[in-house]
Amino acid sequence: MFADEDIKRGERIQYLRVPKVKRVVRSKKDSKAIEHWIGAGKYSWFDTRGTPFRYINHSCDANAAIAGTKTLVALRDIKKGQEIHIDYSMTDADPFMSIACKCGTENCRKYIRAIYTVPPSVFSKHMPYVPKNFQRLYLRNYIQSKVHRYQKG
Ligand SMILES: [Zn+2]
Repeated sequence: MFADEDIKRGERIQYLRVPKVKRVVRSKKDSKAIEHWIGAGKYSWFDTRGTPFRYINHSCDANAAIAGTKTLVALRDIKKGQEIHIDYSMTDADPFMSIACKCGTENCRKYIRAIYTVPPSVFSKHMPYVPKNFQRLYLRNYIQSKVHRYQKG
């Protein structure tokens, strides 16, 4: 997906008009089948087939984000002709997702995985736009990992 005009930071780029689908992901195979869908919750997804969102690429240093599950917003100024990308991890709680990343940015995480695997610096950049249920999931996992580390000494 590419910008056809200059876009300012915080500007809404597009509204997601796609059906919400319930799907429980139980295996790597289930996960693969919905690779291009956008997560709306732990068991709900937006099926992006037939929409421009099907073609939006991932970057570990994304210039856009999906705010509250349905609106694509610019995280920084985007120039006409530049590619618009999102961070797939920020809209995904699928524990089986593991896609090799070749985005080539300085802070590339090498694998695209569920939201709770991203470092706090990445999460806080997206925080205002992350849906409440994903925020809770992230924070719960983050706290658990700290407690676990503390218990191990
Ligand atoms: Zn990357």
